[in-house]
Amino acid sequence: MPDTTARPQLEATSPFELRVNLGHELQESEVRSALASGDMGFLHSYTTGAAVDGPGVRVVAWTTGCMWRCRYCHNPDTWTITNGIPVSVARASEELRKYRGGLALMNGGFTLSGGEPLMQHRFAVKLLAEAKGMGIHTALDTNGFYGERLTDAEMEQVDLVLLDIKTWDAERHIALTGMDNGPTLEFARRLAARRRPVWLRYVLVPGLTDDASDIAEIARFAAGLGNVERVDVLPFHQLGQYKWAKLQLPYTLPDTESPDVLAVQRTLDAFRGQGLTAY
Ligand code: SF4
Repeated sequence: MPDTTARPQLEATSPFELRVNLGHELQESEVRSALASGDMGFLHSYTTGAAVDGPGVRVVAWTTGCMWRCRYCHNPDTWTITNGIPVSVARASEELRKYRGGLALMNGGFTLSGGEPLMQHRFAVKLLAEAKGMGIHTALDTNGFYGERLTDAEMEQVDLVLLDIKTWDAERHIALTGMDNGPTLEFARRLAARRRPVWLRYVLVPGLTDDASDIAEIARFAAGLGNVERVDVLPFHQLGQYKWAKLQLPYTLPDTESPDVLAVQRTLDAFRGQGLTAY
């Protein structure tokens, strides 16, 4: 495989930076071999300072590749794996090492997000293990669909799972993401059985994910797991809309506004009503 690790900058000011075709020089067989070994992966970027992606100040590595097609996705440029920068585990961990001291001072950590990190689960496991080896707190932000790819031992490398639950009703979930939510819920149960800490993330989109009975079901489910330490309700925004246009993808939510304060409060109340900590 050609050494492409000297190009382009991994660091970005924000994941909302549009990045495409950064791994396009690789042959399909090279991509397959990278995914199989995990010695090389594909990253959209590294960003710093995120406070909603785990405890304390975080360094976040955004992977490329996602099998879902959420209608509200903020980063559709991460769907295609070869839009990302091909990086070796060594380069990705070297990048992380730069922040090690600062993260320790600020009780922060490293979050692997995406895209869907478990599309490249071997790379994800290796990079998270590197971070753990540096004494850095690790978090994995995932939609959980490929949770079965992680062994129990590999789950131990992850200090915290940020589990994205998109919606409850099975048909609504398929209409929203294109995929079934069964594997996500199964992964949630498995994490609970292994007593692995979870923060649940819920994107609130008016008219799409604000159905009260759906939210109530998720809240009941999450509370019953016993390992959900916190719920983050993330209000929908339009920051990623321009990417859909640039990528010539059909965006179905151009007129959808961010949820108002009352809608956010109702959602928080639904989770808190089940005894969960929600923000
Ligand atoms: S799971 Fe995440 S990255 Fe994938 S389509 Fe949905 S919002 Fe986008």
